[in-house]
Amino acid sequence: MPREPLYRDGDEEGAGPGDPVPSPVPSAPSPGPDERASDDSLRPRRLADVVGQKAVVGRLQIMLDATRRRREPLGHLLLDGPPGLGKTTLATVVPAELGVDFQITSGPALKAPKDLVPYLTNAAEGSVLFIDEIHRLPPTVEEYLYPAMEDFRLDLVLGEGVNARTVSLTLKPFTVIGATTRSGMLTAPLRDRFVHRESLTHYAEDELSRIVTVNAGKLGLAIDAEGAGEIARRCRGTPRRANNLLRWSRDFAEVHAKRQTLDGETARAALAMREVDRLGLDEQDRRYLTTLVKTFSGGPAGLQTLSHSLAVPPDTLEDEVEPFLLRAGLVKRTPRGRTATAAAFEHLGLGPDQGPQPENLFDDRA
Ligand code: ADP
Repeated sequence: MPREPLYRDGDEEGAGPGDPVPSPVPSAPSPGPDERASDDSLRPRRLADVVGQKAVVGRLQIMLDATRRRREPLGHLLLDGPPGLGKTTLATVVPAELGVDFQITSGPALKAPKDLVPYLTNAAEGSVLFIDEIHRLPPTVEEYLYPAMEDFRLDLVLGEGVNARTVSLTLKPFTVIGATTRSGMLTAPLRDRFVHRESLTHYAEDELSRIVTVNAGKLGLAIDAEGAGEIARRCRGTPRRANNLLRWSRDFAEVHAKRQTLDGETARAALAMREVDRLGLDEQDRRYLTTLVKTFSGGPAGLQTLSHSLAVPPDTLEDEVEPFLLRAGLVKRTPRGRTATAAAFEHLGLGPDQGPQPENLFDDRA
């Protein structure tokens, strides 16, 4: 199959003629350098420090042991699951455990084949190339990745038309670790090139308490079990959210409450000021629920309709807002759209029995 030439005039930035028409609501942004840096400082470095995901960690341990014994690169690994559950963490732990080089990039950053080439040619033997948001890789880049993953070969097409020629480069055997929040959006040929596929799921409360306690230590913050439990209960099963709430609670304790220790009472006050309610819903989650319940009379409402009403990109709703609302039984997905459940009405204080009143949203002891 003829492949896109590697370089062509003006192939730098911007949408090309074949690109999809942009949606009126922008698509979800990738984590910025600030978010990545703040995640990095709290990331476990070794597999033994990774909390939870027992089955996945157990299988990874076997893969790593086998790789060390055989002295071969690890088979390509695909990690999928909602944002903030530890995909990047596991991807960084693997090369640390194997003592190999690590390169990191993302689907949206690889706009054209020429962006991928340096990563492939720089990949040392046995090293790991981590591609975050791999479902957002443009098809032209994906085509260059296939032979690289399968045969450790890079076919460069230089020039165009009658002057086009292909140069084949042999690459060092290496491992691609792909991370995606949407494994369903991956093309079948790309998905098939991953030997190992692992899905990460939301964390249990005791696991999140452990993560919060360890990370409070890394931040130099004293925290008691009740304070850690309060954050663990309200972070929607997601370590990144737990970290964000922990950082906020630390600021609150220092500046507002003038407390040395983040105890239960201080954590509750901090989370109430941040408008994180007793189920862990934040302002955006409640706006979603309120819109579904009040504007659309509980639904069904389509994703695009909700996205326009809320002025939030549909993929942000699908990746970051809906997974928890679905898991918490507040929203249902039906063929005709999203519907609010009785629990959602109740949570907003609108249920038939009135449920918890809005003033109790932030405190589950009421
Ligand atoms: P993702 O790549 O899935 O969006 P990350 O790996 O960046 O998520 O995780 C975000 C943060 O959550 C990390 O910096 C780390 O502090 C914490 N974290 C995630 N998973 C774990 C885990 N299993 N054990 C301990 N901390 C974790």
